[in-house]
Amino acid sequence: MKIGILALQGSFREHQDYFSKLGVETILVKQPEQLDDIDGLVLPGGESTTMRYLIDRYGFMDKLKSYCATKPVFGTCAGMVLLAKENVGYPTHIGTLDVRLKRNAFGRQVASFEDVINLKGIGDVVGVFIRAPYIEIASDNVEVLGTYKDVIVAVKQGYQLATSFHPELTDDLKIGQFFINMVDKYRNE
Ligand code: GLN
Repeated sequence: MKIGILALQGSFREHQDYFSKLGVETILVKQPEQLDDIDGLVLPGGESTTMRYLIDRYGFMDKLKSYCATKPVFGTCAGMVLLAKENVGYPTHIGTLDVRLKRNAFGRQVASFEDVINLKGIGDVVGVFIRAPYIEIASDNVEVLGTYKDVIVAVKQGYQLATSFHPELTDDLKIGQFFINMVDKYRNE
């Protein structure tokens, strides 16, 4: 199994370290053609506006749209913003995840924080939120995996997984393992 990590901007090295702890081979995706060689894709946290600029500049968008619509993808924080079909007040990017999302949604006072989040089918994890988005509305085809104070912070839709927070900044490998299981399932289909 080979997991690609979109490496245009943001926490891609942290994701590489995180998945190496799970014994998975990763590659840093810097060219659109590399999407053809991977079994799953991680869209890291960072700054979605900057990532979008680089996605367009390096000609990634068409391939990313078809990849994320059909193959396993895991978006964390800005990666979740990239996936959302609707970003309130901001443009849509990849747009394959059927949710309405708010960027930088936790307000200035709690712009960054950590708390325990219980995730359906995964268990308790520490959520590290850094100027994080949350999901206001998820369509019926989207499975809500976790909430924090009544807002949605983790979802799964088919082979798309997305969290508002950053598992790669913790030592808890459960979410990464959950994604690997999704990739395995896809490969065996
Ligand atoms: N605020 C960033 C954005 O909207 C996301 C922050 C993050 O990835 N930690 O793109």
